[in-house]
Amino acid sequence: MKNEIIERFTSYVKVDTQSNEDSNTCPSTPGQWTLLNMIVDELKSIGMEEVTIDDNGYVMATLPSNTDKEVPTIGFLAHVDTATDFTGKDVKPQIVENYNGSDIVLNEALHIVLSPKDFPSLEQYKGHTLVTTDGTTLLGADNKAGIAEIMTAMAYLLQHPEIKHGKIRVAFTPDEEIGRGPHKFDVPAFNAKFAYTVDGGPLGELEYESFNAAGAKITIKGNNIHPGSAKGKMVNSLKIAMELQGKIPADEAPEYTEGYEGFYHLLSMNGDVELTKLAYIIRDHDREKFNAKKANLEKIVQDLQEKYGKDNITLELNDQYYNMKEKIEPVKEIVDIAYDAMKNLDIEPKISPIRGGTDGSQLSYMGLPTPNIFTGGENFHGKYEYISVDNMVKATNVIIEIAKLFEERA
Ligand SMILES: [Zn+2]
Repeated sequence: MKNEIIERFTSYVKVDTQSNEDSNTCPSTPGQWTLLNMIVDELKSIGMEEVTIDDNGYVMATLPSNTDKEVPTIGFLAHVDTATDFTGKDVKPQIVENYNGSDIVLNEALHIVLSPKDFPSLEQYKGHTLVTTDGTTLLGADNKAGIAEIMTAMAYLLQHPEIKHGKIRVAFTPDEEIGRGPHKFDVPAFNAKFAYTVDGGPLGELEYESFNAAGAKITIKGNNIHPGSAKGKMVNSLKIAMELQGKIPADEAPEYTEGYEGFYHLLSMNGDVELTKLAYIIRDHDREKFNAKKANLEKIVQDLQEKYGKDNITLELNDQYYNMKEKIEPVKEIVDIAYDAMKNLDIEPKISPIRGGTDGSQLSYMGLPTPNIFTGGENFHGKYEYISVDNMVKATNVIIEIAKLFEERA
């Protein structure tokens, strides 16, 4: 299975599928079409049924049930795009066999080294086969590892009909990294009762709580006058922006929070005397605290409107996604099955709240409860990204075991 996974994974990462927020198409970039079409061919060649790709690039396929039992249809999802933070062009995956625990030279010429001194997590991979970058790109284990694992699990189940399972649906989707993954996902066409995104990090990760998320855009109009004759007339929009930021609780920022602590994050502030624009995101796992943070921002803006004129300060506040826990807790058995699947394979499940969102955060609210399981990857979104092939095999086995357990418990 190991070689099969390496072969799949390295072929996927060579396709540049970086998504692009500024694009209005779906998928946002043509490279994603390339990989999605490759996946369609591969799904057909391994023997999957009902293989479809829609106008927005969403690929779906079916592994038919091979049991007489009534088993709920479950789904597995992975996204084809890579992060916008770092280039995914010309990825040259490097294979490190039987890793000995020392520094890995990613790029001799550029002196780029992946070292356990900087990344202590490397220590636990002694003896593993690792895949790394050449130091000039990200790797794309997020989420091409998930694609390789789902594909390999389906191929395995097709070759092993003695393993009984219900109907399984798989989907490969664009534009997760720019938050649009589920926007055009056809939940009724997918027609699964539950699903899992295979989009987590290190071994054992199992996640069913995400942030509640909102984005705010604030525009402040000033009044620019020649500074020599500005007395009593000039209004400096930059200073109002600073006043606004000064009213946001200083310790509720990403750099001071962890675990279940939410935050306000000033993403950008651009302007001059005449006009300043600010962008914030608000995050909190707890719905009440989330609402309180939004209300607080609205109040801050209102107070400034009273001071500087209602028309001079505008706030656009939009919810982005919600904590999937609200939708998954009523069907907690899907988390239990993933937990037990890992236990059965001697993997210690690590359940923790995501300090972000996944496609599952949106899908769960679209009627498809979708927790997230690990891929085995580390250091996502940058040049130090790497993954253990041994743990990719384990992720593949977890997918197979989840399919088995749904059948056994039906
Ligand atoms: Zn991802």
